[in-house]
Amino acid sequence: MKQVVSFDDVLAEIAVLVRPHFGKGRTAQYIPQLAAVDPNQFGMAICTVKGDEYAVGDADVPFSAQSITKLFALGLALNRIGDEVWTRVGKEPSGTPFNYLSQLEHEEGIPRNPFINAGALAVTDILLNITREPDALVRDFMGLLGVANLTIDEEVAVSELETAHKNRAIANLMRSFGTITHDAEAVVEAYCRQCAVTVTCRQLARAALPLAARGFSPLIEETIFPERLTRRLNALLLTCGTYDSVGSFAYRVGLPSKSGVGGGLVAVIPDHATVAVWAPELDRFGTSVVGAYALEHFSQLTNCSVL
Ligand code: GLN
Repeated sequence: MKQVVSFDDVLAEIAVLVRPHFGKGRTAQYIPQLAAVDPNQFGMAICTVKGDEYAVGDADVPFSAQSITKLFALGLALNRIGDEVWTRVGKEPSGTPFNYLSQLEHEEGIPRNPFINAGALAVTDILLNITREPDALVRDFMGLLGVANLTIDEEVAVSELETAHKNRAIANLMRSFGTITHDAEAVVEAYCRQCAVTVTCRQLARAALPLAARGFSPLIEETIFPERLTRRLNALLLTCGTYDSVGSFAYRVGLPSKSGVGGGLVAVIPDHATVAVWAPELDRFGTSVVGAYALEHFSQLTNCSVL
C-alpha cells in the first residue's frame, strides 16, 4: 500500500470527479427527516495515524450518522463482554437488505451479523445491560474519539421512531426467540436514537482512527481497542459493512467501510488513515452513491487498498 500523491490534491480531484454522479440516487425516503435533506452536498475528510487532517467540501457540515453508529456500538459491546457477543449474533454477510425480516425467522432469531438492523438491535440489547441509555453511551464514545461534543438529532430520532414498523417487527421477532431480552420497544427506541447521532466527516474520520492505528487513538493518546479486536472489526466491515452490496463494494473500493442511510461512509486504511465521506443520495442498498464513487476514486488515485 503506497500513497504517492498528496491528499490535498486527491481530495480536490475527487470533488471534481464525483460531480456527474449527483442525481443518480435518492435521500432515505423512509425516514421523513432524512428524505428532506438537500441532496446537493458533498464532504470528505481524511485523518492519518500521524494526526494530519485533510478535508474538502462540506466536511464540517453535520449529518445523520445512522448505521455508521453500529460500528461504535459493536466496539463498545465487544470491549465490555468480549466474545460473548457472538453467542447473540453471527459474523457472516447476510446477502439480504439491512432490514430484512424472513431470514431472521428462518435462523431462529440469530442475526447474521452486527451491522444489519437485527444484529444492531441485539447489540443495543447487550448495551442495555450496561446502561439505561445506550444511545448516549454511543454518542459520547463517538464524541470522545472524534474530539467533539456530538448530539442526537431529536427530530430525526422521532421521525424514524414514528415510521420504525419494520425495526419493531424485527425486535419483536427476536424477543419471541429470546435473542432480545429487554422490552422490544425500549430496544427500538434506544437504537433509533443512536442512529440519530449527528456527526461531520472530519469528526467521523477522527472517531474511526483507532481502527487504522491498531486500536490506539493518536488524537486522545489512548488505547481504545485491543489490536486483535481492531483487526476483527475491520474484517467485519469488509465482509458486512455495506450489506448486500458488500462484494461489489469491496471490488470497487477495497477498504473496510461502513455506510449509513444519512449518506455517510467511513473507510479504514490499516496503519495509514481513515476516510469519511458524505453525500445524501443513496443507491438501493442504502449506500451513498456519490460517496461510493468518491471512495472508489480515492483508492484508485492513492493505491490505498487492503486487497
Ligand atoms: N436507522 C436506520 C434503520 O434502522 C439505519 C439504516 C442504515 O443506515 N443502513 O433503518
